[in-house]
Formats: sequence, structure tokens, C-alpha cells
Amino acid sequence: MRLLEAVHFSAERHRDQRRKGASRAPYINHPIEVAHLLARVGEVTDLTTLLAAILHDTIEDTGTTGEELEARFGREVRLLVEEMTDDKRLPKEERKRLQIAHAARASPRAKLIKLADKICNVRDVTHTPPSDWSHERRVAYLDWTEAVVGQCRGVNAALERHYGEVLAAGRKVLAV
Ligand code: ZN
Repeated sequence: MRLLEAVHFSAERHRDQRRKGASRAPYINHPIEVAHLLARVGEVTDLTTLLAAILHDTIEDTGTTGEELEARFGREVRLLVEEMTDDKRLPKEERKRLQIAHAARASPRAKLIKLADKICNVRDVTHTPPSDWSHERRVAYLDWTEAVVGQCRGVNAALERHYGEVLAAGRKVLAV
């Protein structure tokens, strides 16, 4: 029931947003996909992890506060979502560099979500990239996810294997 509560909350917060990809999918498809991947491929049943997966972009992209998440979903979920949140005041390149550094010292639950998040993003950038992204940018994005995922090893063998497959498939599509 708390999971449905989180889906409802996240859908409400992301309701006016679309994914950057060419398909312009409703934003909520993304966190649902991340949580679904954790459950289906990673066989994750830990509710805190699944709740945080559903909510992982609400602070960064919808102005939801940590206090709000804590009041509705508890302190653990709040802290996990905060671990998934980039500081948007920093320039993009700096944020990307920091994600690699932060992944290295992330909690095991945060590493799981990061892993599933990167799997989804690699698939999106491979198959439905934003229309203004160059081929070069897409290749560089895939390389960067590999650096982040490299810091998330050891938490879930099935998800790591799946990431490897999705990355290899993406590189095949993008090979010149
Ligand atoms: Zn995400």
C-alpha cells in the first residue's frame, strides 16, 4: 500500500514533466521503470529501496523537500532520495563528476537504485535519445554511466549483469 502511495505521490509531482527523449514519454514512466527493474531483474523486495526508487527524482526535479518525504514516507526513504539527488546549482560537468565520486561512498540501497537508474538511462539514450543529442554525446553518456556503475559493484549480481548487457547492446547500436 505504501508503494501505491509513493506511485501516486510521484505521479502527482511529475505530472507536468516529460522525459527528454524523442518519445517525450510521461516522466513518471521512468521512476516506475527503475522500481520495476529492481523488482523484476534484481529481485529486490526491500520496501524502502522500492519506495525511494519511485521517488528518486522528486527532490531534484519537482521541488519536493526532504522534510515532505520524511513526513510521508519516513526518514530512511528521505535519506535515500537525498543520496540520489544532484546539486542542480552546480554546472552539469561538475555534477557528472560528483556522481562518480558520490556513487563510491553511497549506501548499498542507493547503489542499487543508481544501478537500475543507469540501466534505464542507457536504454533511453540508445533507443529514444533527446533529438538534439549528437552521436558523440550519446557515446560519451554511455561511457560516463560505466564510470558511475563501476562504483556501484557488489550489491546485486543480476542487475550488474543486466547493465553489462544493456551497455553492450547500446554500444552496438551506436557503433559507427
Ligand atoms: Zn532517474
